[in-house]
Amino acid sequence: MYQVLDGKLVSQSVKDRVRVRAAAHNAKGEEITLAVIIVGDDPASRVYVNNKKKACEYVGFRSLEYALPASTTQEELIELIHELNERRDVHGILCQLPVPKHIDDKAVIAAIDPKKDVDAFSEINVGKILIGKYDLLPCTPAGVMELLDYYDIKVEGRNCVVIGRSNIVGKPMAVLLMHANGTVTVTHKKTRHLREVTNKADILVSSVGRAKFVTADMVKEGAVVVDVGMNRDENGKLCGDVVFDEVAPKCSYITPVPGGVGPMTIAMLMQNTLKAFEIQQSDYEG
Ligand code: NAP
Repeated sequence: MYQVLDGKLVSQSVKDRVRVRAAAHNAKGEEITLAVIIVGDDPASRVYVNNKKKACEYVGFRSLEYALPASTTQEELIELIHELNERRDVHGILCQLPVPKHIDDKAVIAAIDPKKDVDAFSEINVGKILIGKYDLLPCTPAGVMELLDYYDIKVEGRNCVVIGRSNIVGKPMAVLLMHANGTVTVTHKKTRHLREVTNKADILVSSVGRAKFVTADMVKEGAVVVDVGMNRDENGKLCGDVVFDEVAPKCSYITPVPGGVGPMTIAMLMQNTLKAFEIQQSDYEG
């Protein structure tokens, strides 16, 4: 019998933890502030930004939204980021990706002060994560680790397979699993015999971005399966990478979509914003 890893439940506990600390700061007259920039009118991005604003409200942060038209130039966007970098009353900055094609997302990420980079995508933060000396972690992989930890799922010594090697999910996921002493394999489009590789996984994390990609024949009996994918099926319904109904019976634990990794990502963003605030406060206090 498998157990569902309940991202709603665990994300709530993370947000409640953040809320308690935010209240203590608020009581001292300190207002933790997250600035969210959205460029253009991508409907999925709008939903994500609205969810982030709602989470800010819940935990007691102030959120500032900068909704810029799709015609915004890279220079204009970077100028706004530089202004936000300078503001002492702004503690976290995120620019919702993807940005329109005429803007280089790497340049945008590089413009954000690493101390305010609550997505932890900047080169400095990525480097810190690699050497295991980090303050801010990318929200989705950090959310997966939090979920595993909550359910007391041990990573140490276990075979972990990550499907996908993107900078925002696959690579940092692999690094965090490695820091937790997992034996990690990262797979991608050029991986040969993927099914044989995934069948060795005690912990399988899928971040491919394709509906119905992970089928029962790819999963070892008793495995922990974490589905990061957020896709639409043929009926336009939100779904992950994993064929849940056929994979779940083989698992010890599995995340659903929705209600798995998605809510964790937002909760970890709140945690990062709190951490960014506390680091900046201690810097100012010298
Ligand atoms: P991405 O940049 O498109 O990366 C997808 C990865 O999957 C690539 O590394 C790609 O390999 C690999 N891949 C594609 N086809 C494959 C195949 N046949 N066999 C093995 N690997 C294959 O996507 P992403 O940004 O990492 O996001 C992945 C999914 O996670 C998406 O559905 C996204 O919406 C979702 N997501 C969810 C959350 C959340 O909060 N739940 C957060 C972020 C992303 P190559 O490198 O060789 O191209």
